[in-house]
Amino acid sequence: MLSNLQNVPILFLIYHLGIQRNLYPDLLILVLADTEKKCNICGNKFENFDKLEQHKKESHQEKSKEKQHVSKSSRYKATGIAAAIAVAIILVVYFSDSTAPVGTIQGVECDPTEGTIFHVHAHLDLIVDSKSVTIPAGIGIKPNECLYWLHTHNTSGVIHIESPQQTTFTLGQFIQVWDNTPDISPKFEDITHGDKNIKVFVNGVEVKDSYENIKLAAHDEIALVSGNVLQSIPSSYEFGGL
Ligand SMILES: [Zn+2]
Ligand SMILES: [Zn+2]
Repeated sequence: MLSNLQNVPILFLIYHLGIQRNLYPDLLILVLADTEKKCNICGNKFENFDKLEQHKKESHQEKSKEKQHVSKSSRYKATGIAAAIAVAIILVVYFSDSTAPVGTIQGVECDPTEGTIFHVHAHLDLIVDSKSVTIPAGIGIKPNECLYWLHTHNTSGVIHIESPQQTTFTLGQFIQVWDNTPDISPKFEDITHGDKNIKVFVNGVEVKDSYENIKLAAHDEIALVSGNVLQSIPSSYEFGGL
């Protein structure tokens, strides 16, 4: 909603430019200008629409007759321009309309405090070229600012899912948070070198799907393997009290 408010000056500017150039047909002016009853010929203001109409009849009869003689083509032209402006306004509103707060990553928001409604944990092992890679601490945490609903507190590989709403999150969302948390290195992209054939094991069983689609369920042990698959793939993790 906040971002909508930011559009008000832009919309007003577009609208005002249109007025200056007399681009809008009367109807659009009525829609946009809302309550103001202003004579479009002399600029006088009136308390209601009837008085404005009466004033126009009395003071500008000749001019309004002239106006009626405006050729059809120029009316079409004006209507076309007004329609284009209306479309532009709609596009501005539509493309900047986002109910998600600034900084949201693939639907994962960053809140000042940890969500308590939904709090579960999954564990991630990352094996690249037969070696286990440490998952960085602080993924999804902007110190003194906010915590993403998906984050890591240490280098154990435990993914904390702490959200104010019960939603199914995916490993793809976690990795997007990882790659977009400032000051975290290495990034997932750096570690896997953009490998498109990463193999996925959930609780020791291979899942033939992209790692991005893997759902993060409570106490899942997820192993991603880039390169050779080790003889033994971890099938569970000791979460302790988590
Ligand atoms: Zn946490
Ligand atoms: Zn937690």
